Amino acid sequence: MDRFTEPILHVDMDAFFVEVERLRRPELRGLPVIVGGLGNRGVVAAASYEARRHGVHSAMPMAHARRLCPHARFLPPDHARYREVSRRVFALLDEVTPLVEPLSIDEAFCDIGGLRLLHPHPVAVGEALRRRIREAEGLPASVGIAATKFIAKLASEEAKPDGLCHVPAGTEVDFLHPMPARRLWGVGEATHARLEGLGVRTVGELAALPRDLLVRRLGEAAGAHLADLAWGRDPRRVETDTAAKSVSVEETYERDLTGEEGIDAALFRHAERLGRRLRAAGLAARSITLKLRFGDFTTFTRSTTLPRPVDGTGDLAAAGRALLARLERRGRGVRLLGLGATGLEPADAPRQLALRGGAGEELTRAADRVRDRFGEDAVVPARLVPRPGPGPDPGRKDT
Ligand SMILES: [Mg+2]
Repeated sequence: MDRFTEPILHVDMDAFFVEVERLRRPELRGLPVIVGGLGNRGVVAAASYEARRHGVHSAMPMAHARRLCPHARFLPPDHARYREVSRRVFALLDEVTPLVEPLSIDEAFCDIGGLRLLHPHPVAVGEALRRRIREAEGLPASVGIAATKFIAKLASEEAKPDGLCHVPAGTEVDFLHPMPARRLWGVGEATHARLEGLGVRTVGELAALPRDLLVRRLGEAAGAHLADLAWGRDPRRVETDTAAKSVSVEETYERDLTGEEGIDAALFRHAERLGRRLRAAGLAARSITLKLRFGDFTTFTRSTTLPRPVDGTGDLAAAGRALLARLERRGRGVRLLGLGATGLEPADAPRQLALRGGAGEELTRAADRVRDRFGEDAVVPARLVPRPGPGPDPGRKDT
């Protein structure tokens, strides 16, 4: 299989509201900070780790938080700003994979399984993401990586603050069993009390109980659910609305591209990058969009819908070329070139049965694997040598 054995990445921003406030008020760094409703009936929306050490946590009445940590700095929430930063962080996740399932304003699951085609190890993906969020937004994020959703989520909690925790497949039970049982998903106050009645404190003690005993005491659904979780079983997949998503590659050139050959080569490189990202996500595209900005800053986009979804470099390049041919360049240089894919669907949909597995397909997969080991430029079609344009591309952008 071309997938990581731990395909689920859970990313969770650390004390998100507090850290966003600290960006514009650096003097708050290192101090206990509490964000929330400041009136008598207010509740805590977020607390810095310094405040959490005094027992403050989110959803706690503000009056209580003030008693626990009277010397904290108290701030009203700025939700518009948090939403704006959140939108940008999610755009960074979309650069990693289109398979993103948001859980809240600062938390998401990503299916990174297919990125094995591009990265040696899932930890490399997680560290690159944390670095990217830190560089772009100045914010700390914690990442958990595991074979299942709920282990990945527990792993990101373990990683906090500002860390990464990878639970290799097969070691879930070692990771899980020493934990307090109440950290399992679905254990609220009532269930927790019943588990304590059974003498259960840790997940390991829960796992040791017979399944039918749990079902009798907790009910069919909750009992079976907890018995599965206690053994690390969680079949849920990352849920994404891929049909509403897009994947695109675009680049602004330091010097306008002028010759037909240079433009075509740039388009082909885009098709390669776009194709690799689609294949890594296990997706194929039904619609292709070409974006072109000329040296005079006029910008055109052209789209086409294909008779069948595609994920191959050759197909993507052909669609891009057909769109390019419909634009009148009239000698103008190309300042920006973009190639995008929409109408995404799983590449293993039934239509693939007849079309996959051909020689072209095999070649593409092999090339992806070579790049995985030797880097982006290890496999270059002869027609792309030498690379046109200046070296590292400052205007390159994948979304
Ligand atoms: Mg968070």
